[in-house]
Amino acid sequence: MTELLYQQDSYRTEFEARVVAVSPRADKYAIELDKTCFYPEAGGQPSDTGEIEGVRVEGVVEDEERVLHLTSERPGFGPGDGVKASIDRVRRLINMQQHTGQHVLSQAFLRVLGAATVSSRLGVEHSTIDIAAPDLTWEEAKATEDLANRIGYENRPVEIFEAGKDEVEGLRVKMPVDRDVIRVVEVKDFDKSPCGGTHTRTTGEIGPIKILRWERVRDASRVEFVCGMLAMEDYYWKSRFIVNLAQDLTTKDEGLPELIPEMLKERKELLKQVEGLRRDLAGYRTGDLLAGARDVAGVRIVSSYLEEGTPLEIREIAAALTRNPGTVALLASGREKLHLVFSRSADVGADMRKAIQAACEVVGGKGGGRADVCQGGGKHPGKAPEALEEAEQIVEDMIRNS
Ligand SMILES: [Zn+2]
Repeated sequence: MTELLYQQDSYRTEFEARVVAVSPRADKYAIELDKTCFYPEAGGQPSDTGEIEGVRVEGVVEDEERVLHLTSERPGFGPGDGVKASIDRVRRLINMQQHTGQHVLSQAFLRVLGAATVSSRLGVEHSTIDIAAPDLTWEEAKATEDLANRIGYENRPVEIFEAGKDEVEGLRVKMPVDRDVIRVVEVKDFDKSPCGGTHTRTTGEIGPIKILRWERVRDASRVEFVCGMLAMEDYYWKSRFIVNLAQDLTTKDEGLPELIPEMLKERKELLKQVEGLRRDLAGYRTGDLLAGARDVAGVRIVSSYLEEGTPLEIREIAAALTRNPGTVALLASGREKLHLVFSRSADVGADMRKAIQAACEVVGGKGGGRADVCQGGGKHPGKAPEALEEAEQIVEDMIRNS
């Protein structure tokens, strides 16, 4: 059974201990000490990290009543040796802030909305609690956050004591049934919960308590929040982003909530206009292309290399052209990579697959499709005129022989 120094003093970051055992565990080594300041991953709180005699501790787990320190490095010490160890102070403080903040926030939800906390997960980047309020609103979240932060400003003591299971009244979380004596964490005159985690001495040390977002999960809201240093980090990038965005859009920060939806609306309208203009343009091009068509036994063959066209554009133009009866469209586009679209109207007896295969061979690529419409491409746009000429010859032969 490991003596848990972190339960006596959560601010202690250095300690000396005796090694009980070192054993392989999965692809790591597990170090067991007679006592430890390392908090193991438990109760939804991430573990501490740190060093034992210069050996990096990457994670800490609980195995029955023993705390095991996990490392990839093979330790140079063994059972019976005395070791010096230290935990990463900043990570511990961040964990203490999230954890104590969670107690305060859960009680605040209970007082403001009468909503109990169903479960919680504390993470390295952010934490969540599930609260029994499935339709949480921004106003309710703000009222809760305001109360939680007021408890912070009042800098109330956070006290820890042990008590018999029936001696404590007003516990927010139900007593574990398998214990006679429990460790109670009390935020003075605000919240009492049984808990084995690490906590700040006062509520002021939690720093800001900020709800970020929430989503409905069954009959609860899963509320994401950050406290203290993590809240400031979140505030930092958001401020930087907002200030820069406002500058780029030549407005004030406060102008963004109005401006952005307007811009999105405008963008939607512009995209619609562009689509209409593109259709019109395809129509004009169709007219020009038809005027320049070559007549082969009563079939108009349009053959053209539209350098600037996109694959979508030439598909649209080919479709528009071959809506006219007695028409074949052999189109190419692209400057760096060549796209080919060959199409014919339903009344023309010619197999476009033969034409596309021949053309693709010329431009060093592949293509295929149906007898009436085919697509292809190639690596050599410079050979587009040659490929089109080849395709035109094949189509012409097919028309004359049909
Ligand atoms: Zn706790």
